[in-house]
Amino acid sequence: MERRTLFWNRDDLVLNCAHFVVSPTLIEPMHGHTYQIKIEVEGTLNESDVLIDFLDLKPIVRKWKEEFDNSLLLPTENPLLDIIEIEGDYLKLYVKNIEKEYIVPKHTVHLLPIRNTTVECLSEFFTKKLQEEISSKYPNVKKVRVMLGEYSKSSASFEC
Ligand SMILES: [Zn+2]
Repeated sequence: MERRTLFWNRDDLVLNCAHFVVSPTLIEPMHGHTYQIKIEVEGTLNESDVLIDFLDLKPIVRKWKEEFDNSLLLPTENPLLDIIEIEGDYLKLYVKNIEKEYIVPKHTVHLLPIRNTTVECLSEFFTKKLQEEISSKYPNVKKVRVMLGEYSKSSASFEC
């Protein structure tokens, strides 16, 4: 069977999120991005002669928007960042290597099981998430790639 690639790249595929990268060499202040999302899937045609139906991608991305849009993305696997629940539905974020604290309302936060909120780690997170969501319905899809771009600056993709 011939391998095909399908690209999904719409102007409204964006997530507005705040984040800050914490690493031994890079410590960013908290800031926001309009992340642009591009999706690529690769595989063979199914019995309907499509790789994947766009109508199945739309609700997945809509769900991402409901879940992640306008939130602060925080990595739970970062050894330099402590996320501590405090009274009144707030979180205290403690950046160990610079001994700096942030207090943020809990409802604005989205915790992600990743090491950092770099575009590299975020694209891996969303690629795996998409792959999980489509794999049972589309066994014909062999590769999934989600590219995440910090609008016109930098972007990264992950493939699985
Ligand atoms: Zn940033």
